[in-house]
Amino acid sequence: METTDKIIDGKTVSKQIIEEVKQEALKKGVKPGLALILAGNDPASEIYVRNKGKVCGEIGFYSVTEKFPENVSQEVLLKKVREFNEDEKIHGLLVQLPLPKHINELKVLEAVNYKKDVDGFHPVNAGRLLIGEKSFVPCTPAGIMELIKRYKIETSGKNVVVLGRSNIVGKPIAALLMQKNVNANSTVTVCHSATQNISEFTRKADIIIAAIGRAGFVRGDMVKDGCVIIDVGINRIEDKTKKSGYRITGDVNFDECYPKSSMITPVPGGVGLMTIAMLMKNTLDSALKVIYD
Ligand code: NAP
Repeated sequence: METTDKIIDGKTVSKQIIEEVKQEALKKGVKPGLALILAGNDPASEIYVRNKGKVCGEIGFYSVTEKFPENVSQEVLLKKVREFNEDEKIHGLLVQLPLPKHINELKVLEAVNYKKDVDGFHPVNAGRLLIGEKSFVPCTPAGIMELIKRYKIETSGKNVVVLGRSNIVGKPIAALLMQKNVNANSTVTVCHSATQNISEFTRKADIIIAAIGRAGFVRGDMVKDGCVIIDVGINRIEDKTKKSGYRITGDVNFDECYPKSSMITPVPGGVGLMTIAMLMKNTLDSALKVIYD
């Protein structure tokens, strides 16, 4: 990816990936199938699931969405997971998180056949990722790695500071970047809510990956000149000038950090759009048995 500006353009790259996936599926003559399970009424989850199904339709994938009410029992969810595990039309199976509070999330994630676990949340995939073996990589960290690769961002020997240690972003991106690999090989520090003096870490970082869910947390005086900044945050903040009454902003104070950065992802238009693209890629890889036979 060539760029004249220092903006890392997730919008353009995600479109490219989706087109590549579509073309490869056509070339190989496969119809990848994705099953989406949604439980409860979380409005953001409903939008995510709808968008995932929509993109499947646009690129000729088969997709099916199963919706359950907030009070669905764990047994019913597990039964549906097992059905999709057996369904030959389904290559990828995704349970949208978060699940209602009475459901044991790990039990449900573990029930997914890890060979269809295109979200990469099954402990087998998480473990394989950590030991550097082929696995389904969670879509948001996979999207970050793809941006790093396509923008030829040097990572080897660089100090990377990851803000946040969630299982879906912080931990996997830290594990990916510490691997002895091209496009990785970094020295990784992970900061979280118990970290003292976060600025002391971020000011030494060549690359900052912010995934904490706190609007504008990374301020200009927390980064060094020339830093690469990847903003994963998606935060709704009140904005009366918008019809919706809110706008989306990242974990990074863009206006303050842009002048100091060498490259930076905007929010929206950065990492967020990569997630669905990588989900499509993982689903294609599953249909083509790229990860598992
Ligand atoms: P999460 O599960 O809520 O985890 C947040 C992490 O940030 C935790 O490790 C927490 O520390 C840490 N943290 C919270 N406040 C902090 C503070 N003030 N200082 C330092 N660390 C702090 O979040 P997530 O699911 O990883 O998501 C993070 C952000 O990325 C959210 O805005 C989310 O919407 C966004 N996101 C975007 C995408 C996408 O682009 N497609 C995908 C996933 C998430 P503790 O562990 O100590 O609690």
